[in-house]
Amino acid sequence: MKPLNSVNLECVFCHNDVETVKHILLACPFVWRLWSNIVRWWGFQWVMPGSVDGLLQWWYGCSMSKLEKKIWMVIPMATHWSIWRHRNECVFNGLQLEFEALCDILKVRVALWTKALPLQVAAFVNDLVYNLQQVKFCLRSGG
Ligand SMILES: [Zn+2]
Repeated sequence: MKPLNSVNLECVFCHNDVETVKHILLACPFVWRLWSNIVRWWGFQWVMPGSVDGLLQWWYGCSMSKLEKKIWMVIPMATHWSIWRHRNECVFNGLQLEFEALCDILKVRVALWTKALPLQVAAFVNDLVYNLQQVKFCLRSGG
């Protein structure tokens, strides 16, 4: 067993900070880029919340149509899940995905998880990933 002081606590994404919950799920520059990408995908702009709790409070407090909100509520879970999976792939398998590939995987994951919800959103996975603004427009206008 390694002594505690030899355990590597460095963030696997930026190699520039200690891997705390806040850092790995929100504050790491790599993770922040991912959040910014997904928020821009939605058509929003934002300022980084000060904590993971603050992020979720802001997220859940956003108002939009019921069906849009179905997709919106999937995003934080899918993002945290994708970050954690990617972190584990880096730590345990030495994988280092390209940033754009990780963004694409996250968007497909959001689309697949949305499609698995009981109240189905009538859109194809491909449209959710690549034409989200049109899907949201249709959801708002009831078609
Ligand atoms: Zn980091």
